[in-house]
Amino acid sequence: MRLAGDRTVGRLVKWLRILGIPCELITVKSKEEIPEDVFLLTRATSLASARSLVLPCEKPAAQLRFVLEKLPHLWEEMRPFSLCLPCNERLEEISKEEVFGLVPDHVYETQRRFRRCPRCGRIYWPGSHHSLMKRRLEEILGRPLTADPDGSEGRS
Ligand SMILES: [Zn+2]
Repeated sequence: MRLAGDRTVGRLVKWLRILGIPCELITVKSKEEIPEDVFLLTRATSLASARSLVLPCEKPAAQLRFVLEKLPHLWEEMRPFSLCLPCNERLEEISKEEVFGLVPDHVYETQRRFRRCPRCGRIYWPGSHHSLMKRRLEEILGRPLTADPDGSEGRS
């Protein structure tokens, strides 16, 4: 089952991706249009079905809490900072040598671990995801966001 959200919950979709929970952004006009392998997050009550979760709240923070309460298995799937935010793709480790010339000099000199999106080629390093967003999410979840065990987001 793929997790997806529609445009009524765009910010929530982004936050889930920051948390490393893959979530697609799709458009459906009726519940019959929800793809069979998709579980949809939406604000639209007209899309209520066995394969959707209608969010009663407007604020993304409340939506995120609601989703985690209703779909608690997502806590297990959480791997913060492991996805490319625009692409929803799992980042791949690449060697430091490979990013030479592709990231700012000060980043190359101070960072040891780099990851790349296999789709768009964007390069990520610890701290390259928005730290403001990280703090906000930590507030909402009530726990520190640590990267996937082999990652090193926010660590040296
Ligand atoms: Zn990408």
